[in-house]
Order: sequence, then structure tokens, then C-alpha cells
Amino acid sequence: MKDNNCIFCKIANGEIPSRTLYEDEKYRVILDLGPATRGHALVLPKDHFANIYEIPAEWAAGAIEIGQQMALRMRERLHTDGANLIQNNGEAAGQTVPHFHLHVIPRYRNDGQHMLWRPGSMTDAELDEVLEALT
Ligand code: 5GP
Ligand code: ZN
Repeated sequence: MKDNNCIFCKIANGEIPSRTLYEDEKYRVILDLGPATRGHALVLPKDHFANIYEIPAEWAAGAIEIGQQMALRMRERLHTDGANLIQNNGEAAGQTVPHFHLHVIPRYRNDGQHMLWRPGSMTDAELDEVLEALT
């Protein structure tokens, strides 16, 4: 199902042109317009799912599979040194477009980007409390 008000639905289904790296019946991979690094791409399902909470598992798995292919292609063609596959869900997590998308961000030694978190700290009691909540 598409959402008529969703820009990524329009891009994924070809109603708005994009720089497409890959396309099949279910997905389109495009270059991000505000790339974190050279080659930054987005894997978009052609059906509308807002985020990881709503996308069926097989669609999410398909996106990862294509993300892997893109990372391999980038390593070969752009001579990347690594890759971050990142997927944001909800405003609190930095999601700005509410249509599921997987970022494939090629990394280069000394590329000046910062995509890792600051390590925090928790007491054993706090960790045990989280463990109890999640098991
Ligand atoms: P988010 O912050 O939701 O995880 O990522 C949204 C991404 O989409 C951003 O990296 C942003 O640069 C990219 N983006 C937003 N609008 C467009 C667009 O119209 N075309 C393309 N190619 N990328 C877009
Ligand atoms: Zn959409």
C-alpha cells in the first residue's frame, strides 16, 4: 500500500525522479540528497511502512539483504573502508521521513563523520532491572 502524502512512497514508486542505484518489484535504492559521505544511499520499500514497528519482518529482512549488496558494491567501486547500516525509528531516534528506510553509509578512514554513540554507564542493579524488563 502507498501513502499519497508520503514523499518516499512517490520516490520509491518512480513518481518523483531519483538517482537510483538499484530497483526491483519491491524496493528502490537511491542516493541520499544530503549524503553523510560519498555514496550514502537509502534502501526504500515500495510499500509504505512508517518504521520498524510497522514493517513486516520479511520486508525488513529484504531491505537488509539489499543493503548488504549495496555495501559490497560500494566497497568494490568506491573503495570504501567500512559501512554503517543505520535505520532510525521515531523522532526521538532522528527519523525525519516517516517511511521505513535503511541508510547505507559508506565509511572512509578519516572521513570526519561521527555515527557512533557516547558510551554511558549503569550500575549492576540498573542493568539487572533492564534485563528483568526485557526478558
Ligand atoms: P532519517 O533522518 O529519516 O533517518 O533520514 C532521512 C534521509 O532522507 C536524510 O538523510 C535526508 O538527507 C534524506 N532525504 C530527505 N528527503 C529526500 C529526498 O527528497 N530525496 C533524497 N534522495 N533524499 C532525501
Ligand atoms: Zn511512504
